Amino acid sequence: MTESYCNVALTVPLRTTFTYAVPEEMREHVQPGSRVLVPFRKKAMVGIVVEMTSEVPEGTKIREIHKALDLIPALTPKLLELGQWIASYYLAPVGEVFRAMLPPVTEISVKRQIVLTEPGRALAEKLKDGTTLTDLDGTEAEFLQRVLEKKEELTLGARGKVEITPEALQRLRRLGYLEIRETMQGRKRKMQHVVAWKGNIEPSAKLGEKEQRIRGLLETERGPLPMQQLLKLAQVSRALIERMLRDGLLEGWEEPIDPVADPFDTGYTPPAHTLNETQESAFNAIRARFELGEFGVQLLHGVTGSGKTEVYLRSVQDTLARGKTAIILVPEIALTLWIGRQCRAWFGARFEGVAVLHSALNDVERAREWWRVRNGAARVVVGTRSAIFAPLENLGLVIVDEEQENSYKQEETPRYHGRDVAIVRAKLENALALLGSATPSLETYHHAVNGKYELLTMASRVENRNLAAVEIVDLRTDFQQTQKANPVSQTLHAAIAECLSFQTQALVLINRRGYSWSVLCRSCGASVQCVNCSISMTYHKNRNRLECHYCGSIQTIPKACPKCESKYVYFFGEGSEHLEERLRKEFPGARIARLDRDTARTKQQYQETLGAFASGALDILVGTQMLAKGHDFQRVTLVGVISADSSLSLPDFRAAERTFQLLTQVAGRAGRGELPGRVLIQTYYPEHYAVQDAVRQDYVSFYERELHFRRMMMYPPFTSLANVIVRNANLENAIRWSRRLSEYLTPQSGKGVRILGPASAPLARLKKEHRYQFLLKSPKKSVLTKILSGALAFCDANEIPGTAVLVDMDPLSLL
Ligand code: ADP
Ligand code: ZN
Ligand code: ZN
Repeated sequence: MTESYCNVALTVPLRTTFTYAVPEEMREHVQPGSRVLVPFRKKAMVGIVVEMTSEVPEGTKIREIHKALDLIPALTPKLLELGQWIASYYLAPVGEVFRAMLPPVTEISVKRQIVLTEPGRALAEKLKDGTTLTDLDGTEAEFLQRVLEKKEELTLGARGKVEITPEALQRLRRLGYLEIRETMQGRKRKMQHVVAWKGNIEPSAKLGEKEQRIRGLLETERGPLPMQQLLKLAQVSRALIERMLRDGLLEGWEEPIDPVADPFDTGYTPPAHTLNETQESAFNAIRARFELGEFGVQLLHGVTGSGKTEVYLRSVQDTLARGKTAIILVPEIALTLWIGRQCRAWFGARFEGVAVLHSALNDVERAREWWRVRNGAARVVVGTRSAIFAPLENLGLVIVDEEQENSYKQEETPRYHGRDVAIVRAKLENALALLGSATPSLETYHHAVNGKYELLTMASRVENRNLAAVEIVDLRTDFQQTQKANPVSQTLHAAIAECLSFQTQALVLINRRGYSWSVLCRSCGASVQCVNCSISMTYHKNRNRLECHYCGSIQTIPKACPKCESKYVYFFGEGSEHLEERLRKEFPGARIARLDRDTARTKQQYQETLGAFASGALDILVGTQMLAKGHDFQRVTLVGVISADSSLSLPDFRAAERTFQLLTQVAGRAGRGELPGRVLIQTYYPEHYAVQDAVRQDYVSFYERELHFRRMMMYPPFTSLANVIVRNANLENAIRWSRRLSEYLTPQSGKGVRILGPASAPLARLKKEHRYQFLLKSPKKSVLTKILSGALAFCDANEIPGTAVLVDMDPLSLL
């Protein structure tokens, strides 16, 4: 018997599902994981069927589903399970979790085709000739023949209407006579033809001069190239390339042109390397894990430039060869494009399809890529955080590159951590999770040391390149010598000058944008605060105004102190805009650009700047964190860090860890090519261990010292944290509700959990809302989960609105 009701998750801020009746004719299409259109209050909403049921909650009027939207359920059973885990672990409404997992509902239509299978076609032909008997009923038999006449394909209309009942259709499918394929209509993807060196060549064979040139380009200099580009670069005729393709010297494939261009896209894809010894042994350990065929987590701890990407790609290759699928998560969009390109070169057409998923795709593009994965056309997915929900079946491997990156954490509901979800997904799918980093998060490394994860180490750079030499510049000494508080010390100035004279490049990192990050009154000491947030305003000289970096509000530049009306208002704390101006003055001949959220407002600006730098059109690039990550600039010989202290002094228990990671990452940007690199870190606290260990690039030493601190302070990994914020624009509400909530929370303290608060949050006001905070600490996650779900139920029962209470499990920031 099929159940006649189902529980549906809807995108409403309620932590529950809703029961609907499934009309007779839809029963076959409504399964767990299917999207359905249902009436909710006075609207129609799209929801996800979580489970079928024959029970109806008492005393409620059950409404019927309007429409079944999927022929194959959008979510696989494993993804459904994953979504429910996320909802319960992160205390998020299940409907919102599923929404985050699914592609956007777009206007593009889904084309559904009915395709006969081999046995289906054989049967239909025999039926037509009248040469066989079958247990199909008349309509079914007739239908098969009709599909056959329509050249084996029958497009279902937008409503999925065919002259056969859905039950009969599903029956034919189950019997293996036909398949139902769904493809996204939408605009067609732009494709390009890419050519690579294949080299099916006799050792004795002689290549002509032009052929040599092509080989050089494709094999060593540039890697696989789009046809157009190859023709231009090699100055040869298309006919020659086509001949070489026919002769097996070259191979070619179609590759989609990404809607977001790769900033480094000079058409270059690094050629595949033979693994060196270090890489080989890491890869062997990964393969050995595959052999076990069970869930496991490995940490690939490899210094910057140790060639982790190559190990990832081999592992994906191995996964595909075993008939399984793979996901590669990367922390930012630019990296999806870069790794995506390499994946296409490796697996694109020759092996399996590759899909790229990131937030800069528009809805149509995202939906199209998503369904390509769901239909099995793509078997490798590269993407940012939410790509962990890619609907691959038979998942064998999930890679999380730079697993420590904050961008894996979603800072809105559902507040999940992509890396942690990756591990849970791997577990559900019996797959391998491979976390990679030069500076693993403390939690991850701790698990590796304890044997919960397997630790793989790559301690040297490829081709024995040296790590850049890192030096500390003590700003106190600099000040004593110069009597000037110049953010560019004498040492850094001299190093930049040297760079310019050798015509190499320099990166200068500063962690604040804007011109000055504080506006102070000399007379009364007041600083100009945002009207909406308890944070001081940043001065932007180019735009001639003050801005709040949290809520975006704007103020004019005050002529007098808003508090005491003194005229002695001054700007304090140099930001990136000021630094750029300073460097232009100090190095008048240099070509300088700045990269931060002000100059890179659009993807295009971002790409232009990075592209100009990569191509050598710039000498110095000034910028914020944006500069620190992943990029492989070959001609950078100097990296300067204006101040290591600004991130150390944040009121956050992860401050030292973040500083260490940032300094190590940015140091990894120098000396990646043939030229040796030098890194200068300016600081007022050269003794701090985060700085000291970053200088030595000694991760293990940092880990041990930081672990000691965490143990003393009872912070992760020794305890789990949850942050609860009660917020409202009305101060009295915020106070009242947080007091109310404390009636529930405070008595829980002591039972295996410590509960601090309610206290004013460090950011006491944000975007007009007043904020009060509880911090929960417990060695046991399950204890936190239980208390938090109790707290939310308490809020519901006591009319504390759901929107006023924000629960953050495993928070990255306590602000
Ligand atoms: P990581 O991610 O560990 O910082 P990458 O994967 O970016 O390092 O590799 C750094 C550089 O080394 C890349 O340019 C890559 O093409 C190159 N590379 C990787 N493996 C090898 C190898 N076995 N021999 C030579 N070069 C290699
Ligand atoms: Zn004043
Ligand atoms: Zn603000």
